Amino acid sequence: VFDNNAGLGISRDVLLTKLAETLSPKRFAHVQQVADAAKQLAVHWGYAAVEKAELAGLLHDYAKEASDDVFISLIHKYKLDPDLLNWHNNVWHGVVGIYKIQEDFGITDPELLRAIEIHTVGSSQMGLLDKILYVADYIEAGRRFEGVEAARVLAYEDLDAAVAYETVHTVTFLAHQQVRIYPQTILTYNAYVDKLR
Ligand code: GDP
Ligand code: FE
Ligand code: FE
Ligand code: FE
Repeated sequence: VFDNNAGLGISRDVLLTKLAETLSPKRFAHVQQVADAAKQLAVHWGYAAVEKAELAGLLHDYAKEASDDVFISLIHKYKLDPDLLNWHNNVWHGVVGIYKIQEDFGITDPELLRAIEIHTVGSSQMGLLDKILYVADYIEAGRRFEGVEAARVLAYEDLDAAVAYETVHTVTFLAHQQVRIYPQTILTYNAYVDKLR
């Protein structure tokens, strides 16, 4: 059982079984690698609830393979910001995905849910677990892209700079693709970009 002191009360075996049957093999491997990275970052940066960081890693992309209809229904059901209907899976799987996680696992821990909510878009105000998950998702052992090594070094030297580095690269990537950028991603960029200097 994960740390019940954290109020999470969910058995690792049950969770892994559910994830294995819900996610593609590739994404199942990804979430386990994010959990490992999050655990290591938690220890390094003195985040005491190490098992919560690990659980955040395991759960963060749980909703990623749900259909658009599922997210649209959740947006209506929970009366979320109607602007969300103008976005897609990339934004929904975190921001809306936490409602599916609450429904399917009965998880209520606000800190855990918040970290998963913003794991793709970040926030201008991020707590330690938020930063750990955001960065762990980017640097997990299976990631192979230009700049990942620099991101891995920064993650252990200066966590705010690692948040900034990732956000700059994501915004640059999206602009190059000529796709819309979610406003909260821009707020994250503005809040953290100076941390690289
Ligand atoms: P993953 O779920 O492990 O693949 O990683 P993330 O949840 O961090 O990101 C998922 C995808 O969303 C990536 O392809 C990002 O480039 C993309 N993404 C991140 N921020 C934004 C945004 O503001 N707008 C859009 N359209 N896509 C974004
Ligand atoms: Fe994700
Ligand atoms: Fe990410
Ligand atoms: Fe991910």
